[in-house]
Amino acid sequence: MTSTEEQTLRADLERLRRELTAHAAATEQSARPVDLDQPIGRLSRIDALQQQQLATAQRDAARLRLQQIDSALDRLECGDYGECISCGEEIEFRRLKARPESPVCLPCQSRREARH
Ligand SMILES: [Zn+2]
Repeated sequence: MTSTEEQTLRADLERLRRELTAHAAATEQSARPVDLDQPIGRLSRIDALQQQQLATAQRDAARLRLQQIDSALDRLECGDYGECISCGEEIEFRRLKARPESPVCLPCQSRREARH
């Protein structure tokens, strides 16, 4: 990867990190447990529970992504960024541009998904 490409991806990672952190703070509120003692009626309670579950799932996905972004930024510092952590091959720039936190190359990702 060229240093221009690396700079582009670093900027992408830092922007993503800021966006996700801001978003996480916002969803933290709706992911809080529903107070079942509150007299809000059965239907709106089910609704509130579903919304809470959705918010929790989204929050967990965002947390995982933030972890991957942080470790990608760490790898940038060490100079290992852009190498697949599984096979050591260089990850395609196209893939990193689409998802700069990707820790593995496309073939390794496909192999991982095939196992699930
Ligand atoms: Zn790989």
